[in-house]
Amino acid sequence: SAKEKGGGGIEIYQHGAATKTLERILLENDLRKSIQLNHFSLDYQPKVNLLSGEVTGLEALVRWDHPELGRISPDKFIPIAEETKLIVPLGNWVLREACKQAMKWYNKGFTGFRVAVNMSTIQLEEPFFIEKIQSILIETNVLPELLEIELTESVLANMNQVHTIIEEIRRQGIIVSLDDFGTGYSTFSYLKDFPVDTLKIDMTFIQDLHEKEESRAIVKTIISLANTIGLNVIAEGIELKEQAEILLDYGCQEGQGYYYSRPTTPEVCEAFMEKSRIIE
Ligand code: C2E
Ligand code: MG
Ligand code: MG
Ligand code: MG
Repeated sequence: SAKEKGGGGIEIYQHGAATKTLERILLENDLRKSIQLNHFSLDYQPKVNLLSGEVTGLEALVRWDHPELGRISPDKFIPIAEETKLIVPLGNWVLREACKQAMKWYNKGFTGFRVAVNMSTIQLEEPFFIEKIQSILIETNVLPELLEIELTESVLANMNQVHTIIEEIRRQGIIVSLDDFGTGYSTFSYLKDFPVDTLKIDMTFIQDLHEKEESRAIVKTIISLANTIGLNVIAEGIELKEQAEILLDYGCQEGQGYYYSRPTTPEVCEAFMEKSRIIE
């Protein structure tokens, strides 16, 4: 029923069967306003080499600082941004901001670090998506080798033109990763047709790695698949040393998670990179 879907809020009955909670309508409006007023920021989470602990790159994660409600989780507002297509202007802002930060770090001498940006299917479906990316690259003067784009399997499942678009992104010199890998349907069959660089193993398999045989089997299979067909592999959501050790044992050398660092400000990330800086 509408009540069950509503999360306890007041419900507004629209034409037909569709209902939206008042909370949801308010959030949509606030999202629109916040995009205009720029109430967003990016945190960055280091990706590390599991053997040495050195930073290999960083993932940009968008944060919404709502003027009254405080910080709202992306898991809550990204779906709304997607449904309303506000993800398009928001995503452009995220990409531009991440490109600027990547160049800022590069110019400070942190030269070996790629910045990854998450992108939704909705963004890739926009007409002139590639042209938009190109114009942001030109505007920010970013080196394409400093950029990575993280896509989820839903992109592969829902788009006709996705093959061409991924090839286009990679032709620019940008790395493409498949995020949340293993959680979609018919995951493996997509790999035959889609030209990605990296598989990012979903954190649901990583979090019980040390206590669940099934997760170990799945993770081991994904890693050996990646190694066999020549893809990079990275694990997300590592919270325990034991999880990192199992991953290394299975042949995965890169990871990300609270065990190493939570997503944090560019300044705190610099301290991590400082230790990993490539001396030239
Ligand atoms: P994701 O891209 O799979 O990012 C990983 C999420 O897991 C992040 O949550 C990160 O903070 C969290 N995480 C990292 N390590 C750990 C760990 O060890 N334990 C646990 N429990 N969690 C960990 P966050 O920042 O809340 O983002 C959630 C999702 O929102 C992202 O999942 C991504 O799908 C989406 N998102 C975030 N920023 C953007 C963006 O700029 N654009 C788009 N389209 N989506 C975004
Ligand atoms: Mg991601
Ligand atoms: Mg993920
Ligand atoms: Mg996710």
